[in-house]
Amino acid sequence: MERLRRISQILFLIFFLYLFFHATYPYEGGVPAEIFLRISPLVAVITMIATRAFVATLIFGLIVLALSFFLGRYFCGWMCPLGTTIDLMDRLLGKLRRSDSKKVRKFRLWKFSILLAILVAAIFSFQFIWFFDPIVIMTRVATTSLYPIAVFFVDGTMNLLLQFGIFQDPLFSVYDFLRNSILPLEPLFFQQSVIFGLIFLGILLLNRFAKRFWCRYLCPLGAMFGFVSSFRLTKGISIDQKFCTKCGRCQISCKMDAIDDDFQSANAIECIECMSCIQVCPEQAISYKMNFRFARQKTDLSRRRFIWSTATGLLTLGLVKTGFPNKTSQGAVVRPPGALPEDEFLDRCVRCQECVKICSTTGKALQPAFLESGWEGIWTPMVNARHGYCEYNCILCGQVCPSGAIHPLELEIKKKLKMGLAYFDRNRCIPWYRNEDCLVCEEHCPLPDKAIKFDVREVRAQDGSTRVVKFPYVDESLCIGCGICVTKCPVTGPAGIFLTNAQEQRWGEMDESDGIYPENF
Ligand code: SF4
Ligand code: SF4
Ligand code: SF4
Repeated sequence: MERLRRISQILFLIFFLYLFFHATYPYEGGVPAEIFLRISPLVAVITMIATRAFVATLIFGLIVLALSFFLGRYFCGWMCPLGTTIDLMDRLLGKLRRSDSKKVRKFRLWKFSILLAILVAAIFSFQFIWFFDPIVIMTRVATTSLYPIAVFFVDGTMNLLLQFGIFQDPLFSVYDFLRNSILPLEPLFFQQSVIFGLIFLGILLLNRFAKRFWCRYLCPLGAMFGFVSSFRLTKGISIDQKFCTKCGRCQISCKMDAIDDDFQSANAIECIECMSCIQVCPEQAISYKMNFRFARQKTDLSRRRFIWSTATGLLTLGLVKTGFPNKTSQGAVVRPPGALPEDEFLDRCVRCQECVKICSTTGKALQPAFLESGWEGIWTPMVNARHGYCEYNCILCGQVCPSGAIHPLELEIKKKLKMGLAYFDRNRCIPWYRNEDCLVCEEHCPLPDKAIKFDVREVRAQDGSTRVVKFPYVDESLCIGCGICVTKCPVTGPAGIFLTNAQEQRWGEMDESDGIYPENF
């Protein structure tokens, strides 16, 4: 059984990676790339509470959670990609690890406190799972840190090997194959990738203190599964007292410290159904039973801890909501096309960076925000137009967003939808400050009627001569704010044209007067 579980873990991890690479241009359907995020019960429950709405796309998360009434924390032991990565890391760090101390058992309650704090914040319409959900963490770190690092090293190794001048043909074939399958066309760069990478590394290194430290003590999704498992209707791991010699091997092998000290039973809240205890028991006293039983297991969440967690949730919420950056920068960023109105967008977006990943394969417009849209908007996707632009023929971000923070658009609607508006900076734009022609932004504008127009005027140059210069300006009625003019502007440093969110159209705020209101909306 344990072997079967390991195979399941590896298959789910491979499936996770397959979906990660599947989120790329051209995105040709099949299995939705965001399916892991949609089956996270934490994403489903908290998003629905924070938005006060039933989000149909997240219903699978509720089904996955309901299965815990029968199968306990099966998700943690058999499916979770972060849990599997931690197990793999555990093998690598095994020798470094200290012996798991029972003194730290009291920290088991931390995960419930975190879950409670998140729930309290969600009730006040503030969604904070983006920092804690394991699927979100995995998707985010894979996009922003692990993948760019892998690309950097693969590129570097290939270039090094090619310089030696041997095995050139097979090397080129391998490189070509990688380029056409999993490698991007150009190296990837994401804002804050170092921060995301360090947080992930921290989670893995916590294993030095206890096996599956994150899962035992911190993961709110594990806490959610554990809470439902406390009402478990089937027996699960069962220890036959007739055969048990209390040798303690099961307890040592248990990743979650779930075997009670009297070796009478496994703690249904902590047990992740990994079956290692069955494997190691020399007396074969342990088995897995699906017999019906109902005996509520208490979570021991004391009243004091309950109050602390609630207070922490409220304090965090208050601090974030009243933070000065919210006041100064709210709504100052350009969001992807189809983004919901800002408040709803912030409630829904789980900061998984799925949209950022797929965008990096088209126009590279999206980056995770820092404080550009306040504390509340941290790590949400925003357009960094100097880095990349929204590709005119692309609607992919809305297709992979698991929570509906970006509404999926039809291409014809997207082509007319205003994400923002470009403005010229006359102190930097070449024709304006140097009195020389430059047509780059106009040439790249993808609109059939071109949103950049010219005012042709005769001017006197610095040497006293006169010349005819084309002065560009933005036709506000046409510009959709895709940002390609900013990306392509040849001026060094900040561009001669910049993108703002003026006149932006958020999904759900549009009406017939916008001319793009779909009849069935
Ligand atoms: S506790 Fe959390 S991270 Fe660990 S396996 Fe379960 S869901 Fe995954
Ligand atoms: S529609 Fe624009 S922002 Fe969205 S993925 Fe495509 S290029 Fe990126
Ligand atoms: S908007 Fe982007 S980061 Fe936010 S939930 Fe959707 S895909 Fe994830």
